[in-house]
Amino acid sequence: MHPFSFVEVESAEAAINALEADGNAVFFAGGTTLIDLMKLDVLTPEVLVDVNRMAFASIQTTADGVSIGANVRNSDLAHDRVIRDRYPVLSEALLSGASAQLRNMASTAGNLLQRTRCLYFRDVNAGCNKRRPGSGCDALTGVNRSHALLGTSDACIATNPSDMCVAMAALEAVIHTQRQDGTTRAIPLADFYLLPGNTPERETVLEKRELITHVQLPNDEIGRRSHYLKVRDRASYEFALASAAVAWELDGGIIKRARVALGGIATVPWRSKEAETVLTGKPAATATYVKAAEAALEGAVPREHNAFKIELAKRTLVEALEELGRN
Ligand SMILES: Cc1cc2nc3c(=O)[nH]c(=O)nc-3n(C[C@H](O)[C@H](O)[C@H](O)COP(=O)(O)OP(=O)(O)OC[C@H]3O[C@@H](n4cnc5c(N)ncnc54)[C@H](O)[C@@H]3O)c2cc1C
Repeated sequence: MHPFSFVEVESAEAAINALEADGNAVFFAGGTTLIDLMKLDVLTPEVLVDVNRMAFASIQTTADGVSIGANVRNSDLAHDRVIRDRYPVLSEALLSGASAQLRNMASTAGNLLQRTRCLYFRDVNAGCNKRRPGSGCDALTGVNRSHALLGTSDACIATNPSDMCVAMAALEAVIHTQRQDGTTRAIPLADFYLLPGNTPERETVLEKRELITHVQLPNDEIGRRSHYLKVRDRASYEFALASAAVAWELDGGIIKRARVALGGIATVPWRSKEAETVLTGKPAATATYVKAAEAALEGAVPREHNAFKIELAKRTLVEALEELGRN
């Protein structure tokens, strides 16, 4: 691990200025991703700017929905009464992630920006275009069981590992940021993540010194009937092989509106409008769910070890919808 210094700041402005002062400085929240990657030499920042003393640590109900501060811990968010009532899919997704200890540390902004668990990204001796642009992608011909099927490119097939973000994709969350010139941005989650293409090192539209301040969940009743299902190699402390976040509005057994997002199988939290189109206007029944799952996985590109995830993801989505129907 390389030497680094630690700077504590009390405000968004101070945090952004501290990053400006040193080109190799990064924000530090719970540290559960950052410190891991520093220990592996994957990341070598010289300055950690601790944002934990800033505000942005509360969950507020507003006319527009619910505002979640960047520093709200994953545990607090999962157990919040409003979140559990109005957006159960988010609570369930958070509680399916990591462990209780990690969730107590992990922040909302940190979760949005957690890095892939790709073995080759985390091994500095391997070729990885995301970690070292131009060095190739060893996952393409290596052990790629956990890798992505959707949104991939010849440069990168790393999976986005977050559970929380899959639920937020289904809920159409909006990420709010602040920049050095004081301007703010509201970025829909659908526009926040970048597909790898030829530049997998660029994962989001965030600029270098842009701070996430909060996340807004829209005031939409669809969140009340929602569910998250995660399938993994063991029941706890494990990332998704496949997951599905689903929500709908029903009218007499007919699906009036639907939301579908998938995790564990794509390079970004994957909203499936194809599946939503299939579901809309149809009876809430297994035959409909199967067709939606077919549509969701239609563009999947399997590699040597991960082809099984196509069927797994379809079944995960079908079962998530079945469970939503039983609730
Ligand atoms: C063993 C283990 C198992 C896990 N299992 C799961 C799992 O099953 N599912 C899952 O979803 N996650 C899992 N995780 C990941 C965990 O959810 C993330 O590590 C955590 O959410 C990151 O939050 P943090 O606050 O610790 O981020 P940090 O490590 O502090 O930061 C992560 C990134 O966010 C940036 N950042 C932080 N705050 C801001 C801000 N306000 N503005 C801009 N940038 C910011 C940092 O600069 C850094 O780049 C696991 C982690 C571990 C270690």
